[in-house]
Amino acid sequence: MGLSFTMDGHIYIHIPFCLSKCRYCAFSSIVTREVPEDRYLMALFREAALYRDRGVFSSGSIQTLYIGGGTPTLFTPSGIKRLIEGLRNIWTFSEQAEISIESNPETLDLRYAKGLKGAGITRISMGAQSFSARLLKYLGRIHTPEKSVQGFLHLRDAGFDNINIDLILGVPGEKPEELETDLDWIEKLGPEHVSAYLLQHEPGTWFAGVKPCDEDKVATFFARVVDRLSIIGFQHYEISNYARPGFRCRHNMAYWAYKPYLGLGAASVSCIVEGKRWENVKDPYKYMTRIERGLDPVETVDSLDTKEIAFEKKFLSLRTDHGIDVKDMPEHLPLGLFEIKGNRAVLTKKGMLVSDEIFSLL
Ligand code: SF4
Repeated sequence: MGLSFTMDGHIYIHIPFCLSKCRYCAFSSIVTREVPEDRYLMALFREAALYRDRGVFSSGSIQTLYIGGGTPTLFTPSGIKRLIEGLRNIWTFSEQAEISIESNPETLDLRYAKGLKGAGITRISMGAQSFSARLLKYLGRIHTPEKSVQGFLHLRDAGFDNINIDLILGVPGEKPEELETDLDWIEKLGPEHVSAYLLQHEPGTWFAGVKPCDEDKVATFFARVVDRLSIIGFQHYEISNYARPGFRCRHNMAYWAYKPYLGLGAASVSCIVEGKRWENVKDPYKYMTRIERGLDPVETVDSLDTKEIAFEKKFLSLRTDHGIDVKDMPEHLPLGLFEIKGNRAVLTKKGMLVSDEIFSLL
């Protein structure tokens, strides 16, 4: 595989272990209480060194590192520290590098939160998903709303000043008052960032066989989230993402701006050469074995032609408030789906709700 020498880099690390499987989850993760932390870390370092030796990100610095999963907070704080330090020994990190980690409220106590802070994490995302005990149970989450509140407060006490809360909207049977409770908690806790995703009924998940929430109700919920978060000072900068000024997720912004990123670990995806995207083997034990035997962990490679690349650039940008060049917007779209800002076309709330249809016309 031919590699380019890019100036600045973005790295994603996949930690594919969870305490249990949530009913809606289509992410690649295995359920275990025995996380092979040392072995997995060694494999990650070996994989990272292979890319470094081929010149990847050799002439610039790492701008963002995102540790996702799975549940990365099943690693010990010292494991996370070793991970960050190990990568810092392989690549040069920018002084202002954003170093994010995803966390499950069930795994967060004050000691752990302080450990993450000491490990060098600068931004933390907490998967609260809902503050309704009923909906958490229905979603198959293992934590309670109280755990999310306590977890958030522990993060603050540990000194984190850049915290995201993840919410899920449009759960079948969700009541308007449950959504209001979620938004009340966002207001009370005051995170810097909120990601609010519509529940996806992904094939292979428990929710695949469940009737989705009524479309009008989802539209009302989405509009309510947009309006209320904007009232309390959030900028709606991507279909599912809201940030206080200065707190947009730089890692995800790099994805939407089609910047090169390197994924390390089982099931991780890389796109460091325009038009080529590859994915590692999904099973973490197969991944570790392949690396230990000196074999390539890449399982699938996708090649995109010029037209497909142009489409991806447009649709990713149109997800954000940067929009796309007006001349690239499909003609004859009904009024009210987008607005013009200078020479850019940006989706409105209404447009975001039918974004998949609009993207298919790009
Ligand atoms: S904790 Fe996250 S990755 Fe793990 S099963 Fe639940 S949603 Fe999926």
